[in-house]
Amino acid sequence: MNKCQYCNGKLIKNKGRTEKWVNNRLIIIENVPFLVCEDCGEKYYDAETSLKLDEYLYEAKPEKIIEVPVFVYKEG
Ligand SMILES: [Zn+2]
Repeated sequence: MNKCQYCNGKLIKNKGRTEKWVNNRLIIIENVPFLVCEDCGEKYYDAETSLKLDEYLYEAKPEKIIEVPVFVYKEG
């Protein structure tokens, strides 16, 4: 795959942070390899990476724990 399936933009290799939600818990995985669309920013993970990412959902010992501020959007 080398074109974005949404906008047909060019995909380039990159690495970065990704977030996953599991049962109301947010986990962050850093240094993940992915392809990213130059135009719309959509990220694509290959099959092997996706499988590995899922394994972190069951990983008991994170590198570090950070606090995340939570806001509720107020309309009007
Ligand atoms: Zn795109």
